[in-house]
Amino acid sequence: MLKYTFRYFLVASFIFFVSCAKDDDSQETNNPTKSANRQGTGDSANDFLSEDNFTDLVIEVVYVEGFEPSQSSLDNLVSFINQRCYKSGGVEINKRSIVSPNKELFTIEEIDSIEKEIRTHYNSGSRLALFAFFVDGEYKDNDENSVVLGVAYRNTSFVIFEETIQKFSNDFTEPSRVLLESTVYRHEFSHLLGLVDLGSEMQADHLDTENGHHCDVETCLMNYRVESGINVGGMISEENIPKLDSQCLADLRANGGR
Ligand SMILES: [Zn+2]
Ligand SMILES: [Zn+2]
Repeated sequence: MLKYTFRYFLVASFIFFVSCAKDDDSQETNNPTKSANRQGTGDSANDFLSEDNFTDLVIEVVYVEGFEPSQSSLDNLVSFINQRCYKSGGVEINKRSIVSPNKELFTIEEIDSIEKEIRTHYNSGSRLALFAFFVDGEYKDNDENSVVLGVAYRNTSFVIFEETIQKFSNDFTEPSRVLLESTVYRHEFSHLLGLVDLGSEMQADHLDTENGHHCDVETCLMNYRVESGINVGGMISEENIPKLDSQCLADLRANGGR
């Protein structure tokens, strides 16, 4: 019965730092190398999509012990990046674990301050750096109707609530873990690509105004409850991951993407 209440998983796109992007840490602001990675969500959309400024990408994957993202899901994220972005120098994953911060609940401010302590890769030369953080515990404002699975909270950072994903996948009545993970990883990454109306200009109006920076096409990867479109018990196949619709694709291409 409880499953019904959780029928629609919410992939959050609380674009937290769009409105509060001021950096209180003067030390970081004075460091141009780090400050380039501490901008608002969507601000580096063109840097991801085109290779005008960066020809390759490093993804720093940091996970809390016990909550390692599946390799297939990371592979699915990389293949998505290669489909949408020009990065002729390649995409490299640099993965490591950390001990649990021992918190049951996280605000995005807390996630952001942990990032400041543990992130080691920043943009350098022709290499763009992405920070992907996989945590235990859960998002502070989850309620009985919806749970947050991921948040894109900076221009080159997203957090995945991996423990929450594990809780709601791989049961008979739930999506497979790889399918749910791949969907959430691609969805959050697409916010960093500037979707929707978040750094990649809309070529036609398809903004779901009631639900933040999401697409109003129900079957699109960028719909706010894209997980409801996941085939429960679906095969683990890249084909089954929800896709970007033609309008989202048009926005990315207009901003230098593939
Ligand atoms: Zn979203
Ligand atoms: Zn769309």
